[in-house]
Amino acid sequence: MASPDPKIPKIVTIDPEGDLTINFYEPIKDGPEYVGGSGKRIFGRVLAIFKVSRQVVSRNSRQFGMMLMGVFQEAGQHVIDIEEGTVNSLELWFRVLHDAMTDEMYCIPIEDVWEAIEVCGYRNFDIKRLNTWFEKWFSSTDLEELEIEDMCTLLYPCHEFNHAKGFAFLTKSLAYQMAGHITEINPTSHRHLHLEGNAIGSINGARGSLRSKMLRGLFEPVDEYLKQRCSCKAEALFSYCTGLSKTGIWPLESHHKKSVQTILDGPNFIKFVCKPPPNACVNCLERLASSTLTKTRLNVLRDFDGLCLDCMDRTKPKLGGVDEDYWEHDRRRAWSSDCRITHDQPTWYFSFMGRKTEMRAHQRKKR
Ligand SMILES: [Zn+2]
Ligand SMILES: [Zn+2]
Repeated sequence: MASPDPKIPKIVTIDPEGDLTINFYEPIKDGPEYVGGSGKRIFGRVLAIFKVSRQVVSRNSRQFGMMLMGVFQEAGQHVIDIEEGTVNSLELWFRVLHDAMTDEMYCIPIEDVWEAIEVCGYRNFDIKRLNTWFEKWFSSTDLEELEIEDMCTLLYPCHEFNHAKGFAFLTKSLAYQMAGHITEINPTSHRHLHLEGNAIGSINGARGSLRSKMLRGLFEPVDEYLKQRCSCKAEALFSYCTGLSKTGIWPLESHHKKSVQTILDGPNFIKFVCKPPPNACVNCLERLASSTLTKTRLNVLRDFDGLCLDCMDRTKPKLGGVDEDYWEHDRRRAWSSDCRITHDQPTWYFSFMGRKTEMRAHQRKKR
């Protein structure tokens, strides 16, 4: 199919009975001009013409409502000109408001998804109206095929459209798969759109914690060899360290360049091979067995379930402090009760968005 000529505006009939025409134009200084709805000369190019219902648009947007009242109504004006947004993001909004969705709207590019969030900011649309649409839009994404960059771009929309599963999946994947610092990517020019508060700090905190847990698991046997009294401990420790050096964390200062997932999936981590010294005692043999690393591997793989939007919501800084439920879930060790995703303590802990002092006070009380 040939792509549409950018010079010809896209005609979008949202409501065939519609009594309002909205011209969406791109202002161009000293560019082509046309006569706008109010009779004023407008410099720019019309990108799309939407036919909508005046009542539906006014009812759902205070900004449009104000615009269409008063002078406009008195003059019986039925054409207005607007300049902010993108064709897809505006069409999406008008379709949602008129309950006139098309399949095309479930495949709009990610940039337009961000634009749709921006549009609802200054047009006073209720963002919740897009949640159902977004769920379907997101479900058409092949999660297995996502690149790191795609994940960083999807974080904010998943958060804004309250998609708990998507947000948990992305934050979990990034914590395991990023070697370096995780940041979000904003594909638009609206720099004020970004995750609020400490969400990015929390994902990075979870990433660091996974790495520490992995290293602790790997070096725990070394610690135990040092406490042993048998005569085979020296040779056994040497064998263990030789095995460790093949797991991908060696040389130790270079492991930071690899993601936790890459290290955990290394062949010698999945199947730990090290040659036990002859006549090694039972304790030494046990520590050299493949099962030692398998246990660490599984513990780390099962540790973090991603950030939980419901726990984040309960702990947002607000008047009266964190919801009591949140602390109660920890005391009962039922970390994800009342959450839309199932998760353990690490997710509960890293989804905390409140003040550090409150978390510390809780931990002290628990002890
Ligand atoms: Zn021994
Ligand atoms: Zn939760």
